[in-house]
This record gives sequence, structure tokens and C-alpha cells, in this order.
Amino acid sequence: MTRPTRAVIDLEALRANLQRAQSAAPGRRIAAVVKADAYGHGLVPVAHALEASVDRFAVACLEEACRLHEAGITRPSLLLEGGFEAAELIEAAALDAAVVVHSEDQLAALECARPSRPIEVWIKIDTGMHRLGWPADEVRAVWQRLRACPQVGGIVLMTHLASADRPDTARNAVQLDRFRSATQGLETERSMANSAAVLACPEAHGDWIRPGIMLYGASPLADRPASGLGLSPVMDLRSRIIAVRRCRAGDRVGYGGDWVCPEAMPVGVVAIGYGDGYPRHLPTGTPVLVGGRSLPLIGRVSMDMITVDLRARPETQTGDEVVLWGEGLPVDEIAARAGTIAYELLCQITPRVPRVYR
Ligand SMILES: *Cc1c(COP(=O)(O)O)cnc(C)c1O
Repeated sequence: MTRPTRAVIDLEALRANLQRAQSAAPGRRIAAVVKADAYGHGLVPVAHALEASVDRFAVACLEEACRLHEAGITRPSLLLEGGFEAAELIEAAALDAAVVVHSEDQLAALECARPSRPIEVWIKIDTGMHRLGWPADEVRAVWQRLRACPQVGGIVLMTHLASADRPDTARNAVQLDRFRSATQGLETERSMANSAAVLACPEAHGDWIRPGIMLYGASPLADRPASGLGLSPVMDLRSRIIAVRRCRAGDRVGYGGDWVCPEAMPVGVVAIGYGDGYPRHLPTGTPVLVGGRSLPLIGRVSMDMITVDLRARPETQTGDEVVLWGEGLPVDEIAARAGTIAYELLCQITPRVPRVYR
């Protein structure tokens, strides 16, 4: 028997979540965000499943764009941080990838480049996040310089919202106002919306949306469960019970003996651990579905195993199915228990976990 740990990826749910983005922002072009191995779901299978319905695939680097190309994906990429060195522009052009330009170095490299065909350029404007992008008062000069370059094809104006997951904060409107005034009169397409803004900020929809996390069925909005937003989980992280131990009152379970059995009780051992990307600092009490029933994690998470309190399901046997997150147990809930966000949990599933596609 092979180790039963796996991430089951539901490509129908993925496509349904894309439709949810389309119905929230009808008629907009879509740069589906598949960086970081499609948030841990597997870059190539995810891209194949979405290809017919999207306009570009947004990735973090040329290597990701190359993997798509080599897998036969014909829909072009968008490099969200542009090139990291000048030489990448030639290859980006060969792949028909669009590049973000956020710095003087990148702009100068573009001006000198002689690519095989014109490159689409996305001007990234810093409207308040203070991570990447041009200050608002430099945008017109950048626009003029790009317009003067025969090697530049289309130009798209973009920005990124720092607090789109909190639609009630005024900071979103401040950023959108800055974007509007920085780009006023520039006749071209615009892109402002990540998943959160797709669902909760129609003013940000523009011409191109950039949905990421919502495609994978996790909630992009703080304090709003994904199910209430019409999103379905795409990844089920699954394993099985590999032993049922009959412990006595006072027995200590796991590293450090953190959990002390308060009475005689059955303890289930599950083949999943931080070596698979299940967070080590998840506390006792974190829910785990065993045969569909929610039971508490007890003791410390090990590299390859966890232990579960089986008192509420004493009939549990070796081989019973376990769900760590997915259908019936939102990844957002587990992320909250771990003090992080679903993005991180999904991305950090390790290569040892086979992805199985449905
Ligand atoms: C990652 C990323 C996105 C997608 O964000 P989600 O919150 O996952 O929807 C959109 N735009 C940019 C620039 C990004 O880097």
C-alpha cells in the first residue's frame, strides 16, 4: 500500500469558481492568477482546465511562463513582477508574455530591447501599497516613453489594492481615486481587481480582472466564509487512519507529551504532518474530519503524522478516510487556527503530496 496522503483537486469546482468571477464582473477580460504552482494546486493541470475561458495566465516569473508554454498552453502569460533581468525580455516576447514594468531599470531594459515581436506592457502604478510600482506623478512620463518604443505592443495600466479584503475601509477608495487621476486621459485598458475586489468592489473591475485565491475556492474577504460567496473548495487534503491506539488515563501522546489522556480513550494516528505542509503549530482542538465527523487534533503535529481524539467516534478503524481541509472543512477555518491565511496553507503543500485530479 502506498502512503494514503494526497491532495484531491476538483477541476469542476475550479471552473465553477471561475464562472463565479465572470458573473461578478461580466464582460471583463481575465488574467487568471496561477503563480506558485497555481497556489499549490498544480500549474499545468489548472491551466489546462481554465484555458478555454481566460485571456492570460498571471505568473510570478518567466520560469512559470515557460512551464506553461512547454506544457502546450497557448494562452499567453503575464509576468506580474516583470523581468528580473534584461535578458528575460527576449524570451518573454518569444512566449508572447506580457510584462509588468514597475521600475526605471525595467523601463530602460525595454527601451534597449530588440525582441522578435512587440511586447505587451502593464504599467504598475503604486497608489498606496508602497510595494511595487511607479508613483502617480511619474505615470505620464512612463506612458510617453513606452509609447515611443516600437517594440512595445499594447499598454495596460494596473494597480494593486492593499486592503481589498476589507471592502469597508476607505483606503480602497483612496487608492482608486489616485489611480483615476494618475491615468486620466490615457486611452487604454485598466486592471485593478484581485479576487477580493472582483467580489466586493465593482468600481475596481476595470477592463481586466486578476482573480487568484477565489478560483481555488478560499475566501478572499476577511470574515466572509467562502461558501457564502458562492465558492467551492478545489483542494481536499486527505489521508487515512494508520493506527488506532487504546490509551489509558494519564498516557502522554506525541512529542513532548503535551496531550495527557484524561481517561482511557482511543487515539487515531493519521498519515499527515508538517512534512506534507500541514502546519506544525496547529493547536490541540483543530478540527479533523474522520469518516465525515469532526474530531479534535491532540498533541503536537509531527513531520509525518498527527494524533486525533477518537472519543466521539470510537468505532474508527485503521484505513478510515480523513480530511484535513476541503469539502466540509474550509481551508480558511484551518488557516485561522494556524494564525495565517488560506493562501499560505495551499501554497505550502509539499511536493511529496501527490495531486490527484478529478
Ligand atoms: C497574486 C496577485 C493577484 C491575485 O490575488 P488574489 O488575492 O489571490 O486574488 C492579483 N494581482 C496581483 C498583482 C498579484 O500579485
